[in-house]
Amino acid sequence: MSLRVLILGNGGREHTLAYTLAESKLVESIVVAPGNGGTADIKKCKNFECGHAPKDFARLVEYAVNNDINLVIPGPEQPLVDGVETHFRKAGISVFGPSQTAAQCEGSKTFAKDFMARHNIPTAAFQNFTKDQSPAAKEYVRQSYANGISLVVKADGLAGGKGVIMPSTMEECLQEVENVLEKQQFGAAGSSLVLEQLLTGPELSVLAFTDGYTVHALPAAQDHKRIGEGDSGPNTGGMGAYTPAPAETPEVRKECLRIIKNTVDGMRKDGFPMVGMLFTGFMVDPTGVKVLEYNVRFGDPETQALLRLLSPESDLAEIMKACVDRRLDCVKFSLREGEHAASVVLASGGYPGKYPTGVPIKINDLPKDVVAYHAGTAIKDGQLVTAGGRVLAVSAFGSTLREALDKAYKGVDAIEFEGKTFRKDIAHRALKENTEEGMTYAQA
Ligand code: AMP
Repeated sequence: MSLRVLILGNGGREHTLAYTLAESKLVESIVVAPGNGGTADIKKCKNFECGHAPKDFARLVEYAVNNDINLVIPGPEQPLVDGVETHFRKAGISVFGPSQTAAQCEGSKTFAKDFMARHNIPTAAFQNFTKDQSPAAKEYVRQSYANGISLVVKADGLAGGKGVIMPSTMEECLQEVENVLEKQQFGAAGSSLVLEQLLTGPELSVLAFTDGYTVHALPAAQDHKRIGEGDSGPNTGGMGAYTPAPAETPEVRKECLRIIKNTVDGMRKDGFPMVGMLFTGFMVDPTGVKVLEYNVRFGDPETQALLRLLSPESDLAEIMKACVDRRLDCVKFSLREGEHAASVVLASGGYPGKYPTGVPIKINDLPKDVVAYHAGTAIKDGQLVTAGGRVLAVSAFGSTLREALDKAYKGVDAIEFEGKTFRKDIAHRALKENTEEGMTYAQA
């Protein structure tokens, strides 16, 4: 088997996938469309300039056909939700990713919640409303708050990570319902919404490979959404991640795996089998483990930490190919026993607000086993420069979380660019909850 891979996307996740796949003997060549300043630099790998986002599916299919591509990996959710899988499938090219219908589990929150209800997947109590049901939605808000239940407002569609609103009072909640349903604040993404109970507790991201039958889950990861230390300041695309997460006790893990398996079985039984990477966002609420959301692709920046934990005997390309061939049960899937991984994002000065681009980057010698995955980078006149808000993610693994973090931060020190911004407290909660050396995967 010789794989000629096309990866869609230009972020840190896509660089991580290309970097890891390039290690595989099964992979003959990799093209990243459009890619970034790092992907063009990986052995066997080149970029295909297709504009900022891979939207022109006909052109991508034509390129794939002409270049004998036999495996496509869409990185971000938008192309999946827009049905990219159908385009390649019709051309006879395998896609590591779900059909457009299965992608609705991420693309439509009302679809996902109805699916969860149908299959008894534990999730926050909820009700869906369409845009002509604003009065009923407001009544639901009043009744919930009268019963002491606070709500979260979720616009149905993809809203660039801004569609989930957590009001602090009933009045605010009513206003948000009006903004989404009546004022159409999120446009078509808000033509319906979910009102669901506010849950509390630690969050876990569990990423699982699946072929629609078998599930191979990675250890739970936690990311850091806020720009500032101590989880302060505005939200970002993610400033770092670590794995495993201490909130994933053996009991919690068992429950997460049960839920993921039920999800995969449910999707197959409903006629839209999941193939690819199912990323389930959980909250460990005092009443139990609940699903917050599904994503149908790798997470960014979780992937930059998680893929460091695949054991050297596990081949990412083989795993992905087995998913599309529906024979995941036949491949070796193993993790670096007892290891921890962490990833620290380096952002441009000013991010997530306005930031400059084209700033020269210098990457000095990185410590052994430390990798700087590229996100917002480009090559300009032979010089590596910044080209986005999140610029690089420095990832490392170690036998303790502390060791993984120390290595990653040494890597951070070896990278220079003006305005370099990063959080110094990645994994702060896990370090507080565990003595540094004491935290092993079995305990986590
Ligand atoms: P989602 O896209 O549905 O995962 O929501 C984004 C973020 O909003 C999650 O990662 C949580 O931090 C938060 N969130 C979503 N739903 C709830 C909920 N029911 N209770 C509390 N926080 C939530």
